[in-house]
Amino acid sequence: MLLAKKIATSLFAIVVSICSVQAQTQLPIQHTNQHNTLIANQKPTGNAAALGMGGMRNTGPKIQIDNSELFNYNWDSQSVNGAYAGLPIPAVKDIDVTGYVAPVRGRLTSPFGYRARFGRMHKGVDLNLRTGDSIVAAFDGRVRITSFDRGGYGYYVVIRHDNGLETVYGHCSRIIAKKDQYVRAGQLIALGGSTGRSTGPHLHFETRYMGIAINPADIIDFDNYVTHRDVFTFNKAQCEKTLSARPAKKHKATSKRKTKKSASKRRGSKKKK
Ligand SMILES: [Zn+2]
Repeated sequence: MLLAKKIATSLFAIVVSICSVQAQTQLPIQHTNQHNTLIANQKPTGNAAALGMGGMRNTGPKIQIDNSELFNYNWDSQSVNGAYAGLPIPAVKDIDVTGYVAPVRGRLTSPFGYRARFGRMHKGVDLNLRTGDSIVAAFDGRVRITSFDRGGYGYYVVIRHDNGLETVYGHCSRIIAKKDQYVRAGQLIALGGSTGRSTGPHLHFETRYMGIAINPADIIDFDNYVTHRDVFTFNKAQCEKTLSARPAKKHKATSKRKTKKSASKRRGSKKKK
């Protein structure tokens, strides 16, 4: 059994190396310089499986970051969005999202995006559940954070997946998975609840690539509990544009004027005294 696995791994390594040789010879001349830079930035890896399917599909002139490098990077950071600081983020990256399992079987109750009511971005989606419902891992991966955030996520879990994504599960009533535990897609990791900044039981679910929040609905069809496609193409510029989306700054200017006015009023009243 172990021998068969070893043989399969070496065969996969051979296939991967053949694929990358082909990819190099197929590159147009104008891309050569760029590609050389990319190769220079790559670290040698003996573990072909860690490359992931995304690595094989990326034959274009994109920055290549292999998932084994991602996997160990800043592993013990308690930061959700800053754990990849220092690594170059590719402009475009194909992510293998086959093997997805819906974390809960609830409907989407609040989308990803700017919430005018709270004046901030909602960097995930909210999925309906009842307190105590099972929350399962969306993909295979290793649990990076299990923690409590009183004013935000409540009890939450962050999993770094083999495909390069990280997912965040917030407002849990109880965490089941342990830090550093390897979990399979569909495996129980927590129970649903309403801890942290939450007004009722739901799962706050985030999908991130190298710390950058991706709208989970771009990857997942939440009505049917499946992914839209087998490969999701992460686009850094597109994500950053979405994340920086804010309404016109009119509101801010008004509040500034108000502050100035009240400040002068306060000064005035002080003088009177
Ligand atoms: Zn939420």
